[in-house]
Amino acid sequence: MPHPVTRRIFLGTASAATALAVGANTSGKEKPALLGGKPVRTEPFGSWPQIGPNDEKAWMEVLRTKRWYRLTGTYVKKFEDKWAGVLGAKYCLATANGTSALLTALNALQIGPGDEVIVPPYTFIATINVVLMQHALPVFVDTDIETQLIDARKIEGAITPRTRAILPVHLGGSAADMDTILAVAKKRGLPVLEDACQAWLGEWRGRKLSTLGEMGCFSFQASKHLNSGEGGAILTNSQELFERSWTFHNNGRAKPNSAFEYSHNGLNLRLTEFQGALLLEQLTRLEEQSQRREQNAAYLRSLLQETPGLRPARMYDGCTRNAYHIFMMRYDKDRFAGLPRAKFIQAMRAEGVPCSPGYKPLNKEPFLKTTLDSRAFRAIYAAQQIRDYEERNRCPANDRLCEEAVWMGQTTLLAARADMDQIAEAVRKIQAHAAELARS
Ligand SMILES: *Cc1c(COP(=O)(O)O)cnc(C)c1O
Repeated sequence: MPHPVTRRIFLGTASAATALAVGANTSGKEKPALLGGKPVRTEPFGSWPQIGPNDEKAWMEVLRTKRWYRLTGTYVKKFEDKWAGVLGAKYCLATANGTSALLTALNALQIGPGDEVIVPPYTFIATINVVLMQHALPVFVDTDIETQLIDARKIEGAITPRTRAILPVHLGGSAADMDTILAVAKKRGLPVLEDACQAWLGEWRGRKLSTLGEMGCFSFQASKHLNSGEGGAILTNSQELFERSWTFHNNGRAKPNSAFEYSHNGLNLRLTEFQGALLLEQLTRLEEQSQRREQNAAYLRSLLQETPGLRPARMYDGCTRNAYHIFMMRYDKDRFAGLPRAKFIQAMRAEGVPCSPGYKPLNKEPFLKTTLDSRAFRAIYAAQQIRDYEERNRCPANDRLCEEAVWMGQTTLLAARADMDQIAEAVRKIQAHAAELARS
């Protein structure tokens, strides 16, 4: 079922697009800022993170309690209960950050040396690093260039007898194709660990991302929509996986906290009470901010229909809510008189619209080779096994995406609706003067 907001957006955007098409004829006359013209905007987009009126109070409250650590305090627990409730999961465990949430989840799933984990090549490095930290092999499945997400149709072909988990990423807040992923996981008896580190309140067919697989992970790092500087969480409906996670993140101590009794090896990956209190406050604003991003993104999508050559990433039909951590697009330079992507981005920045070229292909990262060549990996994997693995890791669609992607960040989408018009105006201006820009 579509989120109620989505319906309203659709009704609003049709007329907006028509109105703009009229204005479009007059635009493009101004020179691009990169060629000495007046930029479409000089006001910066909003900064991040934001501080609400109660954030300081919450922080001071914790300070004065002198209970700064979760096992003597109440705030982290309160946040976990609240976040589990919002998402509709049975259990939530807060962790020191998103990376440690993923690492803890892999430990709970008992992923280790000799195992393979299915991952996308187009993600933040942490998704891959945690697999390597377990001395398991990240098996890259190519990207669906239209959505910029893992191509779920190609997952089954990458499964071997050593595959132990599927780790899709809801990149940019857009849902990976969970129907296909869950079906193949069920057929092959594999757990799904969702990297929802960019997908707070995102949904697949009305269900919150992070709750569809066996486990799901969030990041609350400073750039993220729900943040406490650093922080993370694991969501699961399995008591066993929750308890394993708890133990791992608490130095191997089982619940209730027994100071010097250990059931497994583990680490200290606990969240502090300060962060718990701050997250509770930040959470009060998340829904409203998410709606604003969604509305602006839908409007911007409609505006960009006028400028072929800069295409917003498609969403799968099952994605009923996109968290829009990134407004992901793809740039076709042939529609811009051959203007290279880097120059297009430079021209957009000159117009006062911040954009970036997105991620690099992680399957081709030189550090991956260095890691596989390390003493530990050589002790676990035979040379031929590593050669076979490297042979399988080709992702041609992703290579192409990495040359064509253009992104805008989430704070841009928190601006006013009129600011979206300025973004579209910048694109039109650049397109109208693309040949000139290409020659400059
Ligand atoms: C941010 C992020 C992480 C890691 O989270 P940290 O809190 O920075 O450790 C993992 N995966 C993705 C997709 C992310 O965006």
